[in-house]
Amino acid sequence: MNNKNNYNYLLSDLTKLKGVGSKTASLLKRKKINTIFDLLWKLPKSYTDRSISSNIKDLKIGDVQTVNIVPYKYNFPRIRNLPNRVLCKDETGTLECVFFNSYEGYVRKILPLGKSVTISGKIGFFRNKYQITNPNYVSENSSLIKTKHNQYSLTEGITEKVYNNIIKQIIKDLPKFDEWHNKNILKNFNYISWYKSINELHKPDNIGKYDKDFYQRLAFDEIFSSYLVHSEIRKKIKKIKKKGKSFNINNQSKFISELEFDLTKDQLRSLDTINKDLISNQKMFRLLQGDVGSGKTIVALIAALNVVHSGFQVAVMAPTEILARQHFLLAKKLFKTSIKIDLLSSKSEYKDRKRILKNLGNNKINIIFGTHSIFQKKVEFKKLGLIIIDEQHKFGVNQRKKLSDKGGPNCDVLLMSATPIPRTLTMTIYGDMDLSIIKEKPKFRKEVKTYTKLESKIDDIIKFVKKEIKNGNQVFWVCPLIDESKKIDHSSAIIKFKFLEKIFPKKVALLHGKTDPIEKDLILNNFLNKKFDILVSTTIIEVGIDFPNANVIIIENANKFGLSQLHQLRGRVGRGNKESSCILMFKSSLTENAKKRLSILKKSNDGFEISEEDMKLRGYGDILGFKQSGLKIFKLADPVLNENLFRLAENEIKRIEKNNEDIGKFKTLMKLYDQADIINDIV
Ligand code: ADP
Ligand code: MG
Repeated sequence: MNNKNNYNYLLSDLTKLKGVGSKTASLLKRKKINTIFDLLWKLPKSYTDRSISSNIKDLKIGDVQTVNIVPYKYNFPRIRNLPNRVLCKDETGTLECVFFNSYEGYVRKILPLGKSVTISGKIGFFRNKYQITNPNYVSENSSLIKTKHNQYSLTEGITEKVYNNIIKQIIKDLPKFDEWHNKNILKNFNYISWYKSINELHKPDNIGKYDKDFYQRLAFDEIFSSYLVHSEIRKKIKKIKKKGKSFNINNQSKFISELEFDLTKDQLRSLDTINKDLISNQKMFRLLQGDVGSGKTIVALIAALNVVHSGFQVAVMAPTEILARQHFLLAKKLFKTSIKIDLLSSKSEYKDRKRILKNLGNNKINIIFGTHSIFQKKVEFKKLGLIIIDEQHKFGVNQRKKLSDKGGPNCDVLLMSATPIPRTLTMTIYGDMDLSIIKEKPKFRKEVKTYTKLESKIDDIIKFVKKEIKNGNQVFWVCPLIDESKKIDHSSAIIKFKFLEKIFPKKVALLHGKTDPIEKDLILNNFLNKKFDILVSTTIIEVGIDFPNANVIIIENANKFGLSQLHQLRGRVGRGNKESSCILMFKSSLTENAKKRLSILKKSNDGFEISEEDMKLRGYGDILGFKQSGLKIFKLADPVLNENLFRLAENEIKRIEKNNEDIGKFKTLMKLYDQADIINDIV
């Protein structure tokens, strides 16, 4: 089996392994272990040292121990359910081996009378005799037992012995691949090979040695391969030749001069980059990343304006109807009648829908706004030149690529996301796209004041809310989902709604995950139009929507949220130019750690900085629920601990891209680590 570069073995089904039948395989599959390769990353947690054997008289009761004995008498009762027993001895005493559920023939075979045998197991003491019940290991070959045996966090139904045998078998048959990295990379890891690294990874003495060469190399392989796949997708998209767009920049200048505010430097710089992409004859595939309220929409709309002036159409897609409508209304206000725009909604009446489809087909609509419904099969554009996608941070690589393909070669793609992420994760999540970042907030934007308050002081909060409402302001009241897996757990929001309703009759509305989408839209719209003052909700209220009159957000049980999430929630208020505040409520007084977390939030208003701190405190998997998003879950690499490896990988990718280096030598690496479909068209 030891085929060079044969990754097929590692990618085969578990039942290929000796001793793994369909039952064991299905147990492992439940733990998302589908291939032999997947098994390599289940690392031992600790080991049992069975290397030192003891005399019978020195055995320690209750410990797992190893002992050399000679069986001298069988006791096989004829009554069912009674255990088979074997008396054994050494020079110092007697030990009884007890077997439940073992056949007589099997016991005779493993413990032949008069032969010297090594056994290992937990020592008991019963009726004046040392005992081992169902010993873990029995063998005439003591060297098989007298070593350190790895302990894995085992899948139920699989014993330590079986699991160790499986791992041993894989390591024995492990292919010796040709090295894929160059010397410059390898020198960081003392030139250790992949083969050697995997061997080291499963040695009992190496458990937890995350800073050793073998571990670092394997973590690097993992990061690097995901970057490489992204890079290949990006290159592939760049190869698509499009007709460069030509437009007169004076339209843009005029438009900007008529705005009520000056664009920030970051907004202008992003716009400039986007325009260059539009003009070029390479397809644009760009992410515009910026904190909540950094003003991405206006940048996207100006880009849309330029595209329209070059004779192409634009599609703007938002995750919800209400956000789509808000963008549409903003565009209507800004573009007046110079540009034909429309909104395609699930609520559009049949005749409107028909008209919109017709007008898209003959280029009488320049910009269409909507949800994903604007990409249904029936919708045909005459000359689509730009797709703008807002707030779809949950889109994975595959979904993004599909969208990019959909518009055809002449269509540029711009994604926007208000979800700042730590730098090490940017390449991991968005490495397939070019990136523009807006860091600077619009001038004169007042910072949201952040306070903490104990739940018992709710009367103070109510007083505050009363005052705010009197001044014509609106309030978000956020109750966390206690248990995300149980999506039905909205009781806390419902209880709070009833409580507030009594104090503020007819001024409160409720929104939660079970609210029907049409009703939800209606509630949000009514809130936007100030039909009521307090919106009680679970965290499901979407980002992106501008509520200019809402300037208080109260977040209950704030401990339940990550810092990034709190920052995002806080970003829902303070969009206008009024003083605004965020009140974080706590059930009990704060722990030191909680205080530390909150001080970061009070001190900083920079989502990127906060996300870095959040990741350091809570680990990368947790920030903003990225687990369900396009984020690859790393097996070994850790974006906090291995920041240097992420940087090394990034630089290496840049070097490879710059030199246009052939990536054929990485085929095995990519096949093994990123088994996504996408690779099939790359290598
Ligand atoms: P986001 O980046 O979160 O999508 P928006 O585009 O919704 O932010 O902008 C938030 C608010 O800031 C909007 O009301 C918008 O009109 C306003 N805005 C955008 N750019 C500026 C600017 N340069 N100066 C002042 N206000 C701005
Ligand atoms: Mg937005």
